[in-house]
Amino acid sequence: MATAIVNIGSLLTNDPSLGTIENAAIVVDGERIAWAGPAAAVPAADDRVDAGGRAAAPGFVDSHAHLVFAGDRTSEFNARMSGRPYTAGGIQVTVAATRAATDAELDANVARYVAEALRQGTTTIECKSGYGLTVEDEARALRIAASHTEEVTYLGAHVVPPEYAADPDAYVDLVTGPMLDACAPHARWIDVFCERGAFDGDQARAVLTAGAGRGLVPRVHANQLRHGPGVLLAVELGAASADHCTHLDAADVDALAGGTTVATLLPGAEFSTRAEYPSARRLLDAGARVALSTDCNPGSSFTSSMPFCIAVAVREMGMTPDEAVTAATLGGAQALRRDDIGRITPGALADLVVLDAPSHVHLAYRPGVPLVSAVWRRGARHR
Ligand SMILES: [Zn+2]
Repeated sequence: MATAIVNIGSLLTNDPSLGTIENAAIVVDGERIAWAGPAAAVPAADDRVDAGGRAAAPGFVDSHAHLVFAGDRTSEFNARMSGRPYTAGGIQVTVAATRAATDAELDANVARYVAEALRQGTTTIECKSGYGLTVEDEARALRIAASHTEEVTYLGAHVVPPEYAADPDAYVDLVTGPMLDACAPHARWIDVFCERGAFDGDQARAVLTAGAGRGLVPRVHANQLRHGPGVLLAVELGAASADHCTHLDAADVDALAGGTTVATLLPGAEFSTRAEYPSARRLLDAGARVALSTDCNPGSSFTSSMPFCIAVAVREMGMTPDEAVTAATLGGAQALRRDDIGRITPGALADLVVLDAPSHVHLAYRPGVPLVSAVWRRGARHR
């Protein structure tokens, strides 16, 4: 059953040989794209959908999200934005609520945020553990995540839980030992929060190499709050991505430009904490590959909106609208080492957004406006 989507006013493909096509059409066959090109050349199909002159683009690929959690941190955000001191437990509040939640509650939360993201055009979303921090709670977070997405990341090394505060190295032994044994079967990736107050360079290396030994591919929370060893470690270990990349020196930029590790920028975090934004411009000018993601989490970036991240990246991080939309689609696919998503090309999964706008540039030009009027995921239309 092939469906032709015709009368697409402007189609961003991310395929170098197709580029952006004015007056375009796409043929979807099953869950894949069978054809994309100028409307005048569209091949015959069983069914026909008229896009009404709207723009279309690949579905967004959100390669960094923390969706398995319970509880709420409204009061922490409210205090921060009101300039009031806030001394409650931060991430530990989420850890306690997550440990206390039932499987059904956590599953319903993940389902809600995945659906919320899909309505906004996200057709692939990565999901990390990291709010359980016990063998059982991390393994169950990954099992629940895996029932909603194939891009599952073991983040036992998110923060040292209170019961190990006096002996962080013993927690690293747990993360690289029994917890890894329980978690590796449910995950594709391993991640570590390499930051002062979380895990230092040696601890991060131990976590990532242990995970790699079990077939998990590294990704790193790197250089978010201050300069640190995370980016260089990520590149050295061949990590798929170094995420945040807010505080970089010249050696970090050179390493990212010269390696295969994608720099994943998460402007929702800086927005929601009133922090300094990373410079996407500096990375792009150096030749690094850049992805945009939401970092959706209850503490520092509670947005699931890729269009919001695109708009902020253009306004605050020096990206052009084209660069930002490409980073939110193809860039995310590269950060997940996928060549079947993030582009509209024959053989790719039929994941695309139709925008109530004449061009994908409107995603940055019209911030906060719900432009996503239709979403196709794996060949099925979701709205
Ligand atoms: Zn994160």
